[in-house]
Amino acid sequence: MTKDHGGDVRLSGISKTYGSFTAVHPLDLTVPEGSFFALLGASGCGKTTTLRMIAGLEEPTSGTVHLGDQDVTALPPYKRPVNTVFQSYALFPHLDIFENVAFGLRRRGIRSVKKQVEEMLELVQLGEQARKKPHQLSGGQQQRVAVARALINQPRVLLLDEPLGALDLKLRRQMQLELKRIQTEVGITFIHVTHDQEEAMTMADTVAVMSAGRVEQLGSPTDLYENPHTTFVANFLGTSNLIEAEVDSTSGDDIVLTAGDGKLSLPGARCSAPTATGGRVLVGVRPEKISLTHADDAGDIPVGRNRITGRIAASSFIGVSTQYVVDASVCPEFEVYVQNIDRDPRLVPGAEVVLHWSPAHTFGLDAAQD
Ligand code: ATP
Repeated sequence: MTKDHGGDVRLSGISKTYGSFTAVHPLDLTVPEGSFFALLGASGCGKTTTLRMIAGLEEPTSGTVHLGDQDVTALPPYKRPVNTVFQSYALFPHLDIFENVAFGLRRRGIRSVKKQVEEMLELVQLGEQARKKPHQLSGGQQQRVAVARALINQPRVLLLDEPLGALDLKLRRQMQLELKRIQTEVGITFIHVTHDQEEAMTMADTVAVMSAGRVEQLGSPTDLYENPHTTFVANFLGTSNLIEAEVDSTSGDDIVLTAGDGKLSLPGARCSAPTATGGRVLVGVRPEKISLTHADDAGDIPVGRNRITGRIAASSFIGVSTQYVVDASVCPEFEVYVQNIDRDPRLVPGAEVVLHWSPAHTFGLDAAQD
């Protein structure tokens, strides 16, 4: 692989409209060199269009694309130091795996390709399959050939457009780890488009969550999950419980809120909503951060935890954990996952319970947003 990895990918004010429809609103985005970056969002949010503008397959309506210091906006795809892997592997069925991978080198007139192709097949762990035809490989193996075929051209950036979409769930999980390993090994920038939040979280260093042609939030998987800034991001990345509350006061770094007849607190740094006294905030907490205690034992709950009361509406045992749905006093249908072996046999539908969690696992959202 080339040592010069080409610098950051920088999109400045890039947009795309089709007639009167705006697929991508003016977007500023920097993808750090050498990172695994995911564009994540539901179907139609503009992620593929964004990727295609980086590839040069789509002409932006406005804005520029830079690769390091080079403005590539006006360059056709084949002159950009990027390569794309699509969901359809598009391998040549009549060529064997070796020749599929060698194709790009041969087209450029390079004659001694053996060493490079073998290295590339080792990288994607297909050294043994070199003389097979594509139809003799599994879907995951074919996708790895497509990756090898793209990487042999030594792109500075590899673009991946839902590359695992055609694979079954188990294979997809394996390939996610495999692609992550390959990216770490070659060290170039990977930009990966997916609608699967788990996939983005597993693979990427940085995720841009897109909605309706805009980036809603950009951050590390942990940051997005633990500190979402909008209800869209909170709900897109897993399940969140949201309680509407009113700002009471600020105490040190913490914000104290009233929800129903109880008090909740959350760190000011984790609140993306205005916090003027009397303002309304959506207080969020992830299901696995909540503990469930039978109301009779409420006195055992340590002080300083956020707590609300409720009644268990349903429970289901799902192996490693039990999932409870609780009709809480301040928010119906609260979801709680409890992971412990010694489950309290009193925690059955109808039981009065207290839900409690650490303020550190709480985030605050603007209740006025749509
Ligand atoms: P998916 O996961 O379904 O591919 P996406 O997030 O990648 O979705 P895009 O393919 O970027 O979405 O499309 C964004 C929006 O632009 C969609 O509403 C789509 O219908 C529209 N669009 C894309 N290409 C064109 C085109 N050539 N002409 C008109 N509208 C288009």
